[in-house]
Amino acid sequence: MIVILKPDMGESNPEYRHILDYLANKPNIKTRVHQEIGTLQTLTEIYLIGDTASLDKTEIESLAGVDRVVRVSEEYRILGRHRDEKRQTGFEYNGVKFTQDNLIVFAGLCAVDTPQHVEMMLKALRDYGQVCTRMGAYKPRTNPYSFQGHGKKCLPWVFDLAGKYGIKVIAMEITHDSHLDEIHAALEQAGKPTGVMIQIGTRNTQNFELLKIVGRQREFPALLKRGFGITLEESLNAAEYLASEGNRNIVFGLRGMKTNMGDPHRNFVDFSHVPVIKRLTRMPVCIDPSHSVGTRDAAPDGILDIFHVTAQGVIAGADMVLVDFHPEPATALVDGPQALRLEELPYFLEDVAIAREAYEKRCALSKKAIGKD
Ligand code: PEP
Ligand code: MN
Repeated sequence: MIVILKPDMGESNPEYRHILDYLANKPNIKTRVHQEIGTLQTLTEIYLIGDTASLDKTEIESLAGVDRVVRVSEEYRILGRHRDEKRQTGFEYNGVKFTQDNLIVFAGLCAVDTPQHVEMMLKALRDYGQVCTRMGAYKPRTNPYSFQGHGKKCLPWVFDLAGKYGIKVIAMEITHDSHLDEIHAALEQAGKPTGVMIQIGTRNTQNFELLKIVGRQREFPALLKRGFGITLEESLNAAEYLASEGNRNIVFGLRGMKTNMGDPHRNFVDFSHVPVIKRLTRMPVCIDPSHSVGTRDAAPDGILDIFHVTAQGVIAGADMVLVDFHPEPATALVDGPQALRLEELPYFLEDVAIAREAYEKRCALSKKAIGKD
């Protein structure tokens, strides 16, 4: 059960104390308080664990300072919707809104290689009005002899360049908790010119210790990729690990499943799960067409498969697109074959906008057809 307090009902309010005292007197009930401190208001939720069936929902709702009480009926205690449409989806970070109602593109390099390539990428993004990117510094590679990413040594100049081109959020995968400290230190050192969304890659979706560490910090939001060989439910539980430690600023990423059934794509594209995740949880949903498809093959209509699956995810309501670009794919140190070319950026963005517009029209049509606001 979750007791949602009225906005700005914090520790200093007598009502807050009264609510907690009231709950403390209930037998076999433990409470856990979670606060979201926003720019406009602070929201407090009290999670009740234990014999909640014996509690009187209406009585708790009648306490001064309580906005409403939600019975947690399904899985995903924190991230789930629990048939309460009023709770917020998503979050704002460094001026960028990540919700289930908008769409943000993160085009960028799979792996940071040279300052020249990073600068070319960021300049193109700035020229086309983009404020987010992806830049891999720590790369988990299948082959131990493959390039492992520049790691912490590239962070100072990547962050400086991001600031120079007005980038607000960089999605960056970490594979170890020390990387979190390195990113924090490099951002401080550079004077925080940009923000970072910590990416947990598909190979670490069930690295529970890493999840707990990323979940315990509230400085950075997280992009959790779905595990490529586990069920959706298992991956959503991994997201709940992050949330249960305190960090709810989580985007859930679909990136395709590892099975030969998806051949000739690198992974079996799973973007049909976009609406499912939005129904089950309050997380914004990201799609990664690059790691799903893995090639630059095109259909007879001339449209690359990467563009096609992006459109499929966006028309189904995806909230974020993570996509590999490279100024010179032939020399890319990681995943060159799936990289889109810089000159394709405006074309890609326009194609995404067409799919988004179609999605918005579909939402409007659905409202008209079933009369739901
Ligand atoms: C990536 O986005 O660079 C990446 C390695 O993705 P995934 O973890 O989905 O393979
Ligand atoms: Mn990659």
